Amino acid sequence: MKIVCIGRNYVEHIQELNNDIPDEPVIFIKPDTALLRNNAPFFIPDFTSDVHHEVELVVKIKKMGKCIPAQFSKDYYDEISLGIDFTARDVQSALKAKGLPWEKAKGFDSSAVIAPFISIEGLNLTDLNFRLEKNGEVVQRGNTQQMIHKIDEIIAHVSQYFTLKIGDYIYTGTPAGVGSVKSTDRLVGFIENQEMFNFLVG
Ligand code: ZN
Repeated sequence: MKIVCIGRNYVEHIQELNNDIPDEPVIFIKPDTALLRNNAPFFIPDFTSDVHHEVELVVKIKKMGKCIPAQFSKDYYDEISLGIDFTARDVQSALKAKGLPWEKAKGFDSSAVIAPFISIEGLNLTDLNFRLEKNGEVVQRGNTQQMIHKIDEIIAHVSQYFTLKIGDYIYTGTPAGVGSVKSTDRLVGFIENQEMFNFLVG
C-alpha cells in the first residue's frame, strides 16, 4: 500500500509557515514503513531536534481507480480515520531552502500515525470537526469546511498521477496549530467527540 499526503490544504496553516497558497494540491508520499499504529509510542529520531505534529483526516481507498472524476470519488471510500503526519521541520526547512524533495523530513519510520478506521455512515464529511490535544490542551482544531481541496477533489487530483489501490491511505492536510513534540508528551486525537488515538512521545 502507499500513503499519499496533501500539503498546504488549510489557509491558516499555510500562513503560519509563511508558504504561498498553491493553485493545485501539493502531494508527497510516505512509505508503508512510516506507519505507527495501535497507540504505540513515538520516538523522536536522532537526525532531528524539531519534530512537529500535524493532525490530519485520513481516507482509506476501497476500490482501485485511475483518473477518477470528482463526482465519482465517493465510490472509492467509505471509511476515514485520524492520523498525524509527523514532520522533522528542521530537516524540511533545510531541504526546502535547497529546493530538494522532502522525503527525509516526512517519510521516516513512525512518521505516519494512524488510528483505526471508522465508517463514514452517519458522519457529515462537509462539516466534520477534528482536533489534537497535547498534554490535555487542544493544540490543533480543524473542520472539513476549511479544506481548500475537499476529499473528492483530492481523490480526483491524486488519481491523475497515481493509480489508487485498495488499502491506500490519503492524509488530507493539517489545520493551523502545528508545533514541536518532546519526550513524555501525550497526544490524543478526536473526530468530533470520538477518541481516535492516544499515545506517548517516548
Ligand atoms: Zn501534513
